[in-house]
Amino acid sequence: MLYYEDYDRLNQETRMIMQQSISAFGGNPPTYRIALHDKPTVIWDFHSLLLVTQLMFMFMLTDTKKPIRLCKHCTKAFVANRADAMFCSPQCKNKFNVYKSRAKNGEDE
Ligand SMILES: [Zn+2]
Repeated sequence: MLYYEDYDRLNQETRMIMQQSISAFGGNPPTYRIALHDKPTVIWDFHSLLLVTQLMFMFMLTDTKKPIRLCKHCTKAFVANRADAMFCSPQCKNKFNVYKSRAKNGEDE
């Protein structure tokens, strides 16, 4: 089954959004179809590996549930398992807290 939008029937705003979307992909946007397997499945048709990589990176950058963060201790980028995660690993969290605690104790003396 194919689904088409009749360009002549679109309003000016929708046409502009459509043109911006196409130009965002260098004039060669990915296409997709729905395959009716056990459940309906999206089958993407990308034209290049670079396009897939860019799109996946874009999804990762805008993912609010598992965002890309910079570790508060080592400053490396990591994919957070939780929206409020601040450290790349339990080790970095421990080191950060040890240094923070030592700094605080140093102030007290
Ligand atoms: Zn870290």
